Amino acid sequence: MKDNIIQHNRRFNLQWHITHRCKGTCWHCYNDISVTGCLDCDLITARKIVDDFVDLLSRFDMDGKIHVTGGDPFLHPHLASILEYIASNNIEISIMGNVTEVNNQNVQMLHDFGINEYQVSIDGMQSTHDAIRGKGNFEMTMQAIEKLKAQNIIPAVMFTLHRLNQHEIIKVIGLCNNNGIKSFNFSRMIPLGKGKKLSQAMISPLRYKDILTNIVDLTEENREYCNLIGKKDPLFIPILAEKKLIQINPENRKICSGCYLGINGLTILPKGEVVPCRRLPLIIGNVNTTTLYNIFLNSKTLNTIRNIKKIVPCKKCIYLYYCRGCRAMAYAVHGDVFGIDPQCWLQRGI
Ligand code: SF4
Ligand code: SF4
Repeated sequence: MKDNIIQHNRRFNLQWHITHRCKGTCWHCYNDISVTGCLDCDLITARKIVDDFVDLLSRFDMDGKIHVTGGDPFLHPHLASILEYIASNNIEISIMGNVTEVNNQNVQMLHDFGINEYQVSIDGMQSTHDAIRGKGNFEMTMQAIEKLKAQNIIPAVMFTLHRLNQHEIIKVIGLCNNNGIKSFNFSRMIPLGKGKKLSQAMISPLRYKDILTNIVDLTEENREYCNLIGKKDPLFIPILAEKKLIQINPENRKICSGCYLGINGLTILPKGEVVPCRRLPLIIGNVNTTTLYNIFLNSKTLNTIRNIKKIVPCKKCIYLYYCRGCRAMAYAVHGDVFGIDPQCWLQRGI
C-alpha cells in the first residue's frame, strides 16, 4: 500500500498555513479571508502537527520539508516558537510569505533558525505587479530580495500566471536572472477564493502551450535559465516529451511525475484542517482528531483521487502516469476533481 503511494519522490512536502492574517490585497488570492476568518494556529496544535509529520516521515522512511506560509507567517504572534520547534526536529524549512515584514530583524531570525529559502511573489514588471499587489509593492519586493540575499537566504520567486500578466513572464525570468535570483517558479491562477472573480482571465490552452514551449526553449538555449526555472506544472511533460527531452515509456504503469495529490504532499490550514493541496479545498481530516499519517493513508477522498484511471479525460493519454494535469484546476472550473484540466491542449484536440 505504502509503495503504491510514495513512488516517485522520496521527499514529502508539507505546506502549512499557520495563519490567515495578511496585509496583502492581491486580486487573485486563492485565500478568501472573508470566508476563512482571521485565524492563527495555536501552539498546542502546532506542536502536534510537527510531531505528526516526524512520525509520518519515519513510517514512510522519507525526508521532509515544511513550507511555512499563511496569509503572512510573520503576522502569526508565535512564529519564532513554531520555527524553533520545527528546527529542533531537524526538518528543513522554507517560508512562503509577503514582503511587508521582511526587515533586517526578521531576516536575521530566519537565518538563526537555519532557514535558507524564502518565497516572494513577482507577478509582472513594476506597473503590472503593482496593479496586482498594490502600489510600491514591486520596489518593496526587490528590497526584500536584497535583504534575504545578504543573509544567504535564497529568494525563490513565484509568478501567478493569468491573461493580465502572461505577456511579462519571460521578462520577469530575465529580471530574476539579472538580479542573481536562483529560483523561479510559476503557477497558473486558479479561479478559487478571490481569484474566482478572475475566471475570465484564465489563459487559453493554445496560449498556455506557447508559454510552456517558450520557457522550455529558453532553458535549452541558456543553461543558466535551466537551473533557474522550475518546471513543476504537470503540463510541461507533453512539451518535454515532444521535444525528446524526457523519455516516456508507454508500458509504464507507475506514477512517475506530475500532480502530487495523494502522493508526496499535504497542506494544513490554521485550525488543523488537512487538504490534499492548497488549491483543492476538500477537507480530508483534522490533526486535532487524528494523526497526519492516518489522514494521509486512510482518507477516503485521497484514496479515490489516487485511482488515476478515474480521470476520464486523461485515461487514454500516453502521459497519464507522468502528468494528469492540475486536478485543482479541474475542480475549480468544473466542480469535478476528475474533470478536464481546462488548459490542456491535448484534451482539447489542439
Ligand atoms: S490529457 Fe491529461 S495526462 Fe494527457 S497531457 Fe493532458 S492533462 Fe496531461
Ligand atoms: S492539484 Fe494542481 S496545484 Fe495541486 S498538486 Fe496537483 S498540479 Fe499541483
